[in-house]
Parts: sequence; C-alpha cells; structure tokens
Amino acid sequence: MSGKEFLESVDKVFDNAAKVLKLSASLSNQIKSPNATYKVNFGVRINNQIKTFTGYRCVHSDHLEPVKGGIRFSLLADQSEVEALAALMTYKCALVDIPFGGSKGALIIDPNSYNKFDLERITRRFSQELIKRDMINPSQNVPAPDMGTGEREMAWIADEYRRLNPVDINAFACVTGKPINKHGIRGRTEATGRGVQYAIREFFRHKKDMKLAKLQGTLEGKTIIVQGLGNVGYHAAKFLSEEDGAKVIGVIERDGAVYNKKGVDIEKLKKHILKTGSVKKYKGYKSSGENLLTENCDILIPAALEGVINKDNAKKIKANLIVEAANGPITYEADQILNKEKVIIPDLYANAGGVTVSYFEWVKNLSRIRFGRLHKRGEENKILNLISSVEEITGRKLNLSNKENIIKGSDEIDLVRSGLDDTMRSAYIAMSYRMHAKNKVKDLRTSAMSIALEKIALSYDTLGL
Ligand code: NAD
Repeated sequence: MSGKEFLESVDKVFDNAAKVLKLSASLSNQIKSPNATYKVNFGVRINNQIKTFTGYRCVHSDHLEPVKGGIRFSLLADQSEVEALAALMTYKCALVDIPFGGSKGALIIDPNSYNKFDLERITRRFSQELIKRDMINPSQNVPAPDMGTGEREMAWIADEYRRLNPVDINAFACVTGKPINKHGIRGRTEATGRGVQYAIREFFRHKKDMKLAKLQGTLEGKTIIVQGLGNVGYHAAKFLSEEDGAKVIGVIERDGAVYNKKGVDIEKLKKHILKTGSVKKYKGYKSSGENLLTENCDILIPAALEGVINKDNAKKIKANLIVEAANGPITYEADQILNKEKVIIPDLYANAGGVTVSYFEWVKNLSRIRFGRLHKRGEENKILNLISSVEEITGRKLNLSNKENIIKGSDEIDLVRSGLDDTMRSAYIAMSYRMHAKNKVKDLRTSAMSIALEKIALSYDTLGL
C-alpha cells in the first residue's frame, strides 16, 4: 500500500466516525488536516563521499503539547505515510487519554545497510536538523522508537539534544524509549507487545465481543499467527504464549515464515533470527510467508507493516479475531470486507501500549525520580504491620506460602504494568460499550475513532479557536 493510500484509509475511518458524531465539516477538516510537515535533505560523509538523506517530521495536531510519535527508519517511508502515522498518533493519544498531540517522523534509509558508526552519525545529523527547529524538544515534540529504530537510536537522539541544549534540565525528556541507564523506564521496550497482550486479555473478558468473533473459552490453547517478529511482534508472541498458554503456530517474517501446529518456540526462533539474520533454516520454515496470513488460526496479529491485508487477500483470511499490532495493516477496502464476519481490534487502540509507557517515561524524566522509590518500602512495612497485628490478635502465626510476594511493595516495573493494564482495559471497555450501545457504530474501529474525535473536538471547543 502506498503512503497516499494509507492516508486515505485513515481519513475514511475518520470520516465515518465524524458522521456518527455529526461533527461539522469545518471542525472535521481542521482536526483531520496535518498542521505541518517538515521535509529535510541533509548530507553525511560516508566512505569519503557525501550521501544525501531525506527525512520527515509531521506535526498532525498540537491541540495538546508536546506532540508525540515515533521515528521510523525505512526505505518505504514517504510524506503521506508519515502524515497518516502522525494522524493515527493524534487519535490514539486521545483514545487512551494520553495528554499529547500527534506527530511522526521518518528517515528514508535501510538501517541494515550501514555499520553502527555510520548509522550513529546519520541519526545525529538528522536529530540536529529536527532539534534546531524544535521538532525534538521536551515541551514541544517528543519522538520514540518505531520500525527500524530502538533504544540505541533514542539514546543517540537524547545525547544530541543534550549537547545542543546543555542547560535544559529536562533534556532527557526530549525523547522516549531510551535505555534504562540513559533515563529510560522499565517496561518501555516490551510496552507495545505487552499492550497487545492486555488488549487481547480484555477482549476475552467481553462475552458479547467473543460471540461476534465466534470464539469461546479462554485465551489458553487459542492458535495465533504473528506477522513480524520485531519489537512489537516478538513481545506480543512471547507473552501470549509464555504467560497465557496461547499457541503461536505461525510467524511470518520478511524472508519467509515458520509454521508448527504444536506451537513455535518464540524465544528459540528469535535467537535464531538474531544469530543468522533470517528465519531460513529454522524447523518449519516455509519460503512463501505471505500465504500464512490466510492459514487457519483463532487470532491473527499483523505486527510488521501497513497494507498487508488488502482487497486481494481479505476474503481468504480465516482468523476469527485480527489484532492490529502494526499501524494500518488492514486497508479500508479489506476492513469493509472483514468487519462483517470478524472482530478487528484496531491499531488506534491495539498498539497504544508504546505511547502509554512513553508517557510514563516522560513524566519520570520531568520528575527525575524512579517510580516506586518513595513508597515501596512504606507499602511493605504497612503490610508487615498488618500481618503482625493479625498474628497478635489471633495468637497464631500466619503460614503464608507466598509471603514474599504478598509483602513486596510496588517497583517501577509493577507500576508501569499496572498503569498500562488499566489504560488498555479502560479504553477497551469504552470502545466495546459504545459499539453495543450505538446503532450507528458497528465495529470497534469506528467506536475507537469516534471516542477519540469526541475528545479532540471538545478540546478544540474549549481552546476557543
Ligand atoms: P521492528 O522494526 O522492530 O520490527 C518489524 C518486523 O517486521 C521485523 O522483524 C521485520 O523483519 C519484519 N518485517 C518487515 N517487513 C516484513 C514483511 N514484508 N513481512 C513480514 N515481516 C516483515 O518494528 P516495530 O517497532 O516492531 O514496529 C512494527 C509495527 O508496529 C509498525 O507498524 C509500527 O509503526 C508499529 N508500532 C510500533 C511501536 C513501538 O513501540 N515500536 C508502537 C506502536 C506501533
């Protein structure tokens, strides 16, 4: 799918939700249009030759600041794609009550074609271009990782910002998704995949939604196919199989797929990919990866790129539940075909775990204290005192097998997971409620978008434009 088609898809979903809300055309137009898109060409000397790179940063809506959204490194990126992704960020933040506007950035590059040292210089040069225009700034625009980038790139960006702004006490809040030793937060790397897990768990608490998807029982034993074993796909597949007893029977990657009816060992496969750079030669390898999208399974999790489920293959999809871990994996036409028969948990919601924990990281950076540091031991002492009192009153020693777990106060990772779980559960409940309560809202995507638009419209209204 081209960037233009992706943007059109996002806009069509927006228009459907605006119709449900009866938003005026003028307000709809204001919300929908990106505020500004900055395109930059810059040169870096590599192997004694100047190479020119092109990058983008789009601010879709700054009704709340800072604006937030990842930076991806991809050869397929273009202006429309960045604008579509930035728009999704605006709607996503509103849906899950994150007080940020929406933004997104991209550098047109295949990161695998450069060594670490060149990639660092290229990333720093791109960062300088964005920093000098306040398109990276803790109070205005805060990027995060996306496809092709991770905590290493975020650390380079943060360091570049700090060098250019040595007296900004909030410098490290200029970007999220940083390593722990560089002011990151525990649980950010896993956050998007963890959010996908929490989203699916919540779906299985809603009997009416399960009925729509023709699914019964619990997550245990359900079969899953995942596309993309990168940051998002790997964590989602790992947690769902290791913690919920689901069976990941297929993994689709860029150079083929792995299929095993009994369940693929995600940790082993990931190690194989990291070692060999490919899924080839792994047990169950199939060269025709795309075909696995239409294989029998209960849950399909596209976690790689946009437009992979389109009008050509939509009718062949067999999964009952499709969870959009990636941004825009289902085109608008495919969505129209699929949403009559299946339940789709939309990207807007399904991958919001990343920005949620990014928000926690930004708050941590501004407050300069690890979550849990103040109250962890106090919490433990209260529970110990309570146990002592019960023992004193009853005259009996409590024989608690998991006493340590009961006493343990909340650490940063516990608080992050709790905040993420609460965010994912609350948003799902609101989406599901609206889908069943409003006649005109027939699916979770329209429901999610209409909830987001309602909040953004209210924000514009109170801004008094
Ligand atoms: P990533 O670069 O870590 O992983 C992407 C994976 O997809 C890689 O393993 C890659 O080999 C694979 N892939 C690429 N092309 C493929 C193809 N044609 N078929 C099958 N697999 C293919 O990226 P990520 O951060 O995991 O992001 C994946 C998606 O999730 C993107 O749409 C991104 O926008 C979205 N997302 C990411 C985050 C985050 O926190 N990283 C947050 C929200 C949304």
